[in-house]
Amino acid sequence: MVHLSLEQVHALCFDSLTACGCDRRNADALARSITQAEADECAAHGLFRLPWCVEGIVSGRVDPRAAPTAERLAPGIIRVDGNGGYAPPGLETGCTLLGEHARENGIAVLAFVNMFHVSALWPEVERLAETGLVALAMTPSYPYVAPAGGTKPLFGTNPIAFGWPRRNAPPLVFDQASSRMARGDIQIAARDGLPVPETAGLDPDGRPTTDPNLVLAGAQLAFGGYKGASLAMMVELLAGPLIGEFLSIEAEADDGGNGGPPRGGELILALDPARFGDADAILSHGEKLFTAMLEQPGTRLPGSRRLKARARTRNKGIDVLDSLYRSILALRE
Ligand code: NDP
Repeated sequence: MVHLSLEQVHALCFDSLTACGCDRRNADALARSITQAEADECAAHGLFRLPWCVEGIVSGRVDPRAAPTAERLAPGIIRVDGNGGYAPPGLETGCTLLGEHARENGIAVLAFVNMFHVSALWPEVERLAETGLVALAMTPSYPYVAPAGGTKPLFGTNPIAFGWPRRNAPPLVFDQASSRMARGDIQIAARDGLPVPETAGLDPDGRPTTDPNLVLAGAQLAFGGYKGASLAMMVELLAGPLIGEFLSIEAEADDGGNGGPPRGGELILALDPARFGDADAILSHGEKLFTAMLEQPGTRLPGSRRLKARARTRNKGIDVLDSLYRSILALRE
């Protein structure tokens, strides 16, 4: 293992991204996104993703110097066009505007289009909830997940993230794939030679398997059977056709077999509790639920693992596989 401080993680990403053509804004925003994932010990969206991000740029699909543009489509509906770049710069622009519009109207939606999303969604809902807003985010990806009863990939792993503000604590955040396992975690299991649960996916012949390589070649399964599959379908519709963006199957066709990151959209909804009534009363009512949850032994709040990891890595840094570290250094050659 190689030990790195979070500053070194950021510098490693920033240097690799500028070396392959990113301007400073894009390189910094993407480096911060990857560093945040490492800080919260979400390895599947950390340095592990950097070679894939660079691949997307080198292939010419992702614009490393893209500047996002924003327009208001209707009261409370904002569209940010990522102009073919990675998501983080557009999210910075979009979340600021979304917050302003949510405060004005009580509710606002961000239709984020024409970008490449390669990250977790908790940073955007956490950021909005830190400013006192309730937030919901979702994005499709590539067709990896079979519909309920089917055996061929159709839906993305389609994550849904939710943020709820708290007065005397960090926001309550959950962020989960609608598949039984996130794709990155299956790739990591394949890399490390580890099995996956039998409910994670099917082999290319449609049979359950614990071999991550066969799941990657076959189809992943939604969590909770048809219920998770319906949520994945909802994400396809809301962050696809509704905002004029790709379904996961269309993102794959657009990619043309290149295998780089998927182009597509993200939908983010923000609600201002202060427009629904007394925000303090609303949020303390929410606390009643969290207190009742935590009274039961064995429970924890979603997001608490990440926050503990963040506190730990802030000073101690992280350990990265030597092979991954070397492959990242090689990106600059
Ligand atoms: P996990 O199953 O690891 O966790 C999902 C959520 O459940 C987290 O908020 C987690 O909190 C919470 N949680 C876990 N265990 C418990 C528990 N015992 N009690 C209460 N809450 C719990 O995440 P996934 O594997 O489903 O997804 C991983 C990431 O992959 C997500 O960040 C998602 O956005 C991302 N992703 C991105 C895609 C893209 O295309 N951009 C596609 C698919 C996934 P905690 O974090 O504190 O453990």
